[in-house]
Amino acid sequence: MVYLPNPPTTAPGCLAQLALYASHRDYINSLPGSGFQIGSIVNCELEDAHGGQHLAQLAGAGTPGHPAEDLWVYFERAETYTSMVFAPSCTAEYGVNDQYDNVPCTHIAGHPGAHSWDIEPS
Ligand SMILES: [Zn+2]
Ligand SMILES: [Zn+2]
Repeated sequence: MVYLPNPPTTAPGCLAQLALYASHRDYINSLPGSGFQIGSIVNCELEDAHGGQHLAQLAGAGTPGHPAEDLWVYFERAETYTSMVFAPSCTAEYGVNDQYDNVPCTHIAGHPGAHSWDIEPS
């Protein structure tokens, strides 16, 4: 079997972006356990023409009080947050033909549209 490090992508990604308030960005980046840092601009992670609001992940699971939930922000326009929520991520994994086992979907649980591995990076 040929090892393929990443599954093929098929869906264009949403191009919506959200500008975070600097105070929010700094606070989120100060949380221990997130696993990554965010910049001033975050991108919607869903596929193009998805239904509902745009969605971006702000912190990974492991922040204080949220060992199994990521921090997400829903937004409708570039500078308008609708809500921030802690929620688990989608449990789907790409595993067709066992070539891509253990490639988890990085979207929120119950997200609309394609799983993350099916979306072209924007
Ligand atoms: Zn979007
Ligand atoms: Zn998914």
